Amino acid sequence: MIAIGLPIVTVAYNKDTSPVKLNLGVGAYRTEEGKPLVLNVVRRAEQMLVNDTSRVKEYLSITGLADFNKLSAKLIFGSDSPAIQENRVTTVQCLSGTGSLRVGAEFLAKHYHEHTIYIPQPTWGNHPKVFTLAGLSVKYYRYYDPATRGLDFQGLLDDLAAAPAGVIVLLHACAHNPTGVDPTNDQWEKIRQLMRSKGLLPFFDSAYQGFATGNLDADAQSVRMFVADGGECLAAQSYAKNMGLYGERVGALSIVCKDADVASRVESQLKLVIRPMYSNPPIHGASIVATILKDRQMYDEWTIELKAMADRIISMRQQLFDALQARGTAGDWSHIIKQIGMFTFTGLNTEQVSFMTREHHIYMTSDGRISMAGLSSRTIPHLADAIHAAVT
Ligand code: PMP
Repeated sequence: MIAIGLPIVTVAYNKDTSPVKLNLGVGAYRTEEGKPLVLNVVRRAEQMLVNDTSRVKEYLSITGLADFNKLSAKLIFGSDSPAIQENRVTTVQCLSGTGSLRVGAEFLAKHYHEHTIYIPQPTWGNHPKVFTLAGLSVKYYRYYDPATRGLDFQGLLDDLAAAPAGVIVLLHACAHNPTGVDPTNDQWEKIRQLMRSKGLLPFFDSAYQGFATGNLDADAQSVRMFVADGGECLAAQSYAKNMGLYGERVGALSIVCKDADVASRVESQLKLVIRPMYSNPPIHGASIVATILKDRQMYDEWTIELKAMADRIISMRQQLFDALQARGTAGDWSHIIKQIGMFTFTGLNTEQVSFMTREHHIYMTSDGRISMAGLSSRTIPHLADAIHAAVT
């Protein structure tokens, strides 16, 4: 029999009848009231699309909506990016971040001379599966140091230095999932130098641009550093989090090439990858994004709503940290305010996590990762009590 299931954390949460149950396993933004959010600017764009009776439902081209692709490249690489001006970038609309990673990986498996990709340890659970099934062989580089609950920078450099020349390296552009730990700009610069000196190919996963700091440019800094040196790279973008378009499945894969001729040949090969997979991407989500990105006023409105989501998450970090301080909870919890993005890697172990679920009806992944976006001022005291009890 074929069995299909919801994620284990969600199944257990749904079964729990306690009125105080709290699901911190979901990777989606929630309002202070615990509800999913559709941005006002997205509603407005959708209304404009509905009112435009000249719009039809014809197929898009294999590479998607041209406007969307151009605007997406500008969003991640910067509107003044020399790589874009020199026509060295090819961008294809894909099925959100996951689809962009998969198309990029399929392309690399077919056309790149190295078939090994180094991914951080730990990383988003889907990465190894996406890359392996695309035909790449997955290896890990050190990333997180449980002792400091921060970056294992030396381990990262040592592992990349020991990697064979030319291999692919997956980098989280910002707001590393699950750890919430990012390199500083200085560290990024050292990573860049090392990778370029060894000819390692950067593949950026940008699932949280603007969602981490509230600033779209700041969150794209790592990617832009690598593009500024004139070298090649790949970038997978998702609009799931930063525009709240989770279920619309809208994202883009960009490949920065060494010249315009390579970029146009790469685009032809990408079409050959996409055509037998899903022919062409869906039109609605990409039209929403393009409508917002090409209109100055709507773009500004988006940045304000985006910053409000990021700020709420940052404020949840501070409130949780303060609540633990107020309880005198044992240990150093400063990583909660140092980490960035949707998730906090609490450092709680498997037993502590199951204690919190069993005794306090709080659900999270067994590695101790909690979604800050699923918290509110109302639920923080409950979580702080549970953490306090778990570590005492
Ligand atoms: N990469 C990372 C690091 C993620 O956390 C996610 C979403 N959880 C994705 C990619 C892909 O998300 P989506 O396919 O919904 O855009």
